[in-house]
Parts: sequence; structure tokens; C-alpha cells
Amino acid sequence: MAATKSRGRSHVKCKVCRGPAAVEVRRHNAAFCPEHFISHFRSQVARAIHEFKMFEPADRLLVAVSGGKDSLALWDVLMDLGYDTAGFYLGLGIGGYSDRSRDACISFADGRGAKLIVRSLSEEHGYSVPTLARLSGRVPCSGCGLNKRYEFNRAALEEGYEVLVTGHNLDDEVATLFGNVLHWNTDMLGRQAPVLEERVIGSETALVRKVKPLVRVAERETAAYAVLRGIDYIVEECPLVEGNTQHRYKEAITLIEESSPGTKQQMYFGFLKRAAHRFAEESEAVELVACSSCGSPTIVAEDGNPRCSFCKMKARTERARAGRRREQEAGGSNRGAQGAERGGKE
Ligand code: SF4
Ligand SMILES: [Zn+2]
Ligand SMILES: [Zn+2]
Repeated sequence: MAATKSRGRSHVKCKVCRGPAAVEVRRHNAAFCPEHFISHFRSQVARAIHEFKMFEPADRLLVAVSGGKDSLALWDVLMDLGYDTAGFYLGLGIGGYSDRSRDACISFADGRGAKLIVRSLSEEHGYSVPTLARLSGRVPCSGCGLNKRYEFNRAALEEGYEVLVTGHNLDDEVATLFGNVLHWNTDMLGRQAPVLEERVIGSETALVRKVKPLVRVAERETAAYAVLRGIDYIVEECPLVEGNTQHRYKEAITLIEESSPGTKQQMYFGFLKRAAHRFAEESEAVELVACSSCGSPTIVAEDGNPRCSFCKMKARTERARAGRRREQEAGGSNRGAQGAERGGKE
């Protein structure tokens, strides 16, 4: 990333001003000084917003922030570009990691005088991501992803924001694409786009528009931007990331990128240009109806009682929790009975 001496490239010059370069962007065959890297980064974000018609200056944007470099760098750029934004932080209950990520979001928002909405899974639903994983027996990331998607949309609808903005960068999108192709997950391929349009049921918005303005920048560039801008983001990774398959795909593609700079960009933008529309048609043809429990969009159910994935997950969690409680109570009364028996013998 940095134009360092260790690579023997200390003489690398900024593409714009010819001053000493601080950041190299190998896939663009370019290097920049701090000032011009910041302009380059902003212009890449602005270009994605315009190219994919993500939103207009009049739109109210809710930026999902995690305390990490991507979401805070994105929020920083959007504010500097003059958009009307608020941040949204969802507490996942992952111990000290969640506390520190929330604090990073609060201190960033305070420093910029920006509005931040804070909610948590424990306050909204009475569980955390680790609890969900324990009760469901599934990897934490699966319940975490479902809850984030649901809660981000719900917050945008309830708080009156037209657009939900997330900090997915080029690396994230390529890793998702790679996973979707490995498993030929055509439904997901149909929905893998920098913009997912609003979905309406009847006359009501059921899903707000979702956009990813960082698709033109790589992860190491958002890190460089955040450092150069003095953004105090949380560097540590989620302690539950080990079970995250996307993380492994990201590492694999990064290995290829190192020997062939530009691979990630070719793969993702090639997909958008040449293949995405084939899968999108299939996905858009799926009829959506309101979940009988919460009203969120879901697919038509054969039994006439449509339930969205979130409500199904919540019902499963409540059943598992009730089952555990019964087991504990039964264990407690057995122990009590055994204790009474032993007491009687003594
Ligand atoms: S690594 Fe998994 S559990 Fe941790 S925040 Fe990401 S999706 Fe959630
Ligand atoms: Zn320069
Ligand atoms: Zn539902």
C-alpha cells in the first residue's frame, strides 16, 4: 500500500503533483501523496455513486457503521461530499469487541457533529450473536448477517431514511461473488449489485434501497484513507470471524491479486457488465409477499402462511431457549430429588 523503502520504491512519485508518494494503487498503476490520495479516494466513491445512480443530494441516507475502517471512511466521504447522512450502529453483543466498536462510532459521530442512531440486538430482541449461535448450533456469522440485514432495513424504515448505505468494498464484493460462483448460488448472484432497488408491497416500502458506494475501492485503500484522515477506527477483527467462509475467500483472492494486480477489479466489474443481468432477471421475477408475522417481504408460502427468514429464525431461537430452560429445570429437580434422597440416607 505505502510506497515504502522496503520495496525499493521510495522514489515513487505522486501521479498528480510528482511529490513523494505515500500510497500505491497497483491495479491503477498509480501512486499518490497523502493529499492526492484522499482526493483520488473521494473521486472513486463519487464516481460509483454517479455511475450506478445510487442516490441524489436530496435523499436521506442511513449509513450502517460498525466502527471499522470501511464504514467510517465511507461516512466521512459522504459527509464531505455534502450528503444528508446519519449513522446507524447495531450492537451485536460480542463482548468487549462490540463495546469498543460502538465507542469508535460514537466518538467519530461526536467529532463530526453527526447524528448516530444506536440500537442493540439484546434490547430489541433479547439475544446476542453468541447466544444465537449457541441456540441454533450454526456458525455465528449466519445469524449475525440475517439480523444485520433485517435490523438495518427496519431502522431505515422506522427512522425515515430512503437509502441504506453500507461499507462493502471491492474485496468484500469479490469474495461474495467468488463464494456465489463456487456454489452456483444463482439467487444470490441475481441480487449481487452495487444498488438494490427499493421493494414495495402494496403501496408501502418494504425494503429500502441499498447501496454500496465503496465498490470501486479496495480494502487496503479504505485503511489508507482512514489513517490519512486520522479516523480512529477499531482495528481488531471480530473474534468470531474464524467461522466466516467469506473471510477465507477474501484471503484466497488476495493471494491472486498480489501476483496479478487488477484481478479483483476485472472479476467484479466483468461480472456486473457481462453476467449480472442474466441472474437479476430470474431474481426480480420472484413474487414477494408480506411476512404474516412482521410484514417484511418474503416469498409466497405453500401453506398460505408466509414467514420471513428473520421471524423463522426468531421462532426457532425461542423454541431452543424454551427447550434448554425445560432441560435445566428438569436437571435441577432431579438434582434436588437426588440431594433429598442422599440427605435421607445420611
Ligand atoms: S465476523 Fe461474523 S459474527 Fe463477527 S461481525 Fe462479522 S458476520 Fe458478525
Ligand atoms: Zn500529490
Ligand atoms: Zn417476519
